[in-house]
Amino acid sequence: MKVFSATLATETNTFAPLPTGLDAFRDRGYFPAGTHPDAPQLFTGPLWAARLRAEALGLELAEGLCAAAMPAGPTTRLAHETLRGELLADLRAAMPVDIVLLGLHGAMVAEGCDDCEGDLLARVRALVGPEVVIGAELDPHTHLTEAMVANADLLIAFREYPHTDAVERGLELVDACVAIARGEIRPVPAVFDTGTLRTLHTSREPMRGFVDRARALEGRDGIVSISAIHGFPWADVAELGTRLLVYADADAALARATADRLGAELRTVCDAMRVRGPSIDAALDDALAGPAWPVVLADGADNAGGGAPSDATFVLRRLVARRIEGAVLGPLWDPVAVSIAMQAGEGARVALRIGGKVAPVSGDPLDALVEVRALRRDATMPGLSGSVEPLGDCALVAIDGVEVLLNARRTQGFSTEMFTQMGVDLRARRIVVTKSSQHFFASFSRIAARTIYVDAPGTLTSDLTTLPYRKARRAVIEGF
Ligand SMILES: [Zn+2]
Repeated sequence: MKVFSATLATETNTFAPLPTGLDAFRDRGYFPAGTHPDAPQLFTGPLWAARLRAEALGLELAEGLCAAAMPAGPTTRLAHETLRGELLADLRAAMPVDIVLLGLHGAMVAEGCDDCEGDLLARVRALVGPEVVIGAELDPHTHLTEAMVANADLLIAFREYPHTDAVERGLELVDACVAIARGEIRPVPAVFDTGTLRTLHTSREPMRGFVDRARALEGRDGIVSISAIHGFPWADVAELGTRLLVYADADAALARATADRLGAELRTVCDAMRVRGPSIDAALDDALAGPAWPVVLADGADNAGGGAPSDATFVLRRLVARRIEGAVLGPLWDPVAVSIAMQAGEGARVALRIGGKVAPVSGDPLDALVEVRALRRDATMPGLSGSVEPLGDCALVAIDGVEVLLNARRTQGFSTEMFTQMGVDLRARRIVVTKSSQHFFASFSRIAARTIYVDAPGTLTSDLTTLPYRKARRAVIEGF
């Protein structure tokens, strides 16, 4: 059985100030056909899973382009059409195939195309015809469209947020698609639209319980697969919203009934998960009150993983202004400040202009006399699902009792290792601030006495009514 696998993935924040061009893909993860490294990547779960299953299932695997960019603003038309064309050319060269497995995100928006995944799946379907099995793995922060569902035999989203299960869900996709190709199952989809939109951390109840209940239903009594589609709030697209996707085996009525029943349950979960975090100063007061430290503060509004610049200074400014001792913050993306710190050298004291450089949404830069505590070239940290995340050159600088980890390659705070490899003893700190919405949790929860999700200003503001949506449903925006 011949399988073709490829990836085209990014999450587009249509309000973010940074464009997503070809360099954004080349910088983060660009592997032309046949060059995927010998390690899993977050958005190449299907390819990795197909490699793992090749021998057992007798698969001949053709590996096409795998390209993923750090989330930012809309993908340029040139980047979209170039990468899409390369992927389709790889598929054409591999044909005839029995199965196409795609690693997608589900919230990629390009100039002139609001539904890049629906567009890609339709082009793949047109190329391979109706008999070839098409399966795709999605991030749950997807805008699930009719075109996506109509042009795939099976779509499976990561179950967990933080996304720790990309390989596991990839394996489920491979196994199910092989079963479809062998004529053993015939998944039929049903979608439930909750009519709302929510941030759904699977580390917290009641979402944790919902995910576990849905999982227990999968693979039995005719239910092939269940995916909670959270949606990605910072995108002005018509399909914005939280949905549930169910596949039943050759039974449209079962799929519909299950989607309606579980979808109504998901709607209730959404209502219960509507929590607005404290302001910066309220969060700092709370953290300083203890009784145990370190308290981890998540600045999701400046999360690079949601398209933000990661150079906002709102939280840093309050830490410094309040002269808080024993605080560390990072990563803050500032390649210029890193290069100045590198020139000055470890132990130097130097005047730095930190952050606030990309756009007004990052706030004003912070000018300070800093001590350069540690420097590291080409640093990395563990990512999710076995991936490795580049941080670029890093500088740990101190402004009195506040340490800041500056980095040169924009990314979110995936792992405590970004701090500890710079010599920071996190257990001796009171406040650890990281720029991440939820992916930080997989690593930081191991050292955190408590976690506080801060409601700071920034690109991923929690008040969606301040953003200029035109295509998304008003009720969805206002209900967030
Ligand atoms: Zn996601």
